[in-house]
Amino acid sequence: MVKAVIFDLDDTLYREKDFVEGAFKYVCKYLSMQYELNFGKLYEDINDILKKHGRGSIFNILCKKYNIAEDISTLVNIYRNSLPQIDLYEDAANFFKKYSGKYSFGIITDGKASVQWNKIGLLNLKKYVDGIIVTDDYGKKYWKPNSFVYLKMAQYFECRPEECLYIGDNPNKDFIGARAIGMNTIRIIRKSGDHMNTFLDSSKEADFNINSMDKLQNIIENRM
Ligand SMILES: [Mg+2]
Repeated sequence: MVKAVIFDLDDTLYREKDFVEGAFKYVCKYLSMQYELNFGKLYEDINDILKKHGRGSIFNILCKKYNIAEDISTLVNIYRNSLPQIDLYEDAANFFKKYSGKYSFGIITDGKASVQWNKIGLLNLKKYVDGIIVTDDYGKKYWKPNSFVYLKMAQYFECRPEECLYIGDNPNKDFIGARAIGMNTIRIIRKSGDHMNTFLDSSKEADFNINSMDKLQNIIENRM
């Protein structure tokens, strides 16, 4: 019997790219004002850099391209403190509305703590979710797939790991630590997301896959 349903955040409950693109707009707005540059062109370029080079040194590449001697940490702070408009996926919002108050819900999310808490606030998740763990609050070594945070969540709900269900999108880290302590796992494969095309050894994958949280309703109603 499953008593608590625990979710990953990015690309599981909302589209992470919406946050990234929204935060980029804050950075581009700053640069356009500071250096009298065209906002639209900056925004196009920063998205191109993300596509070509991935995350990591986007702001360095952008500043180099425009020959700007900007302090990169200023841009990183603007990005991290930005508050763009983001929304829960429709199926996630429907799910929470339908089951809120009836079941226990949790979130375990990796990423810079202040940014993840910002996202949780922007998505108004405290309205629906009882237990929230931002792994970074414990330190980088406690990020997923470390089992510690999953155990911590089970303790919070006062249930055994086998009575918990973890739902995430990234087989590189979402299910390993959960499965190691005996949690049930489900992978959500949405139409977009960094990991939608990643398929790993079955030991790292979830017990099974779904493509919408609408499918979760049957599982919950049959197992809870
Ligand atoms: Mg994720």
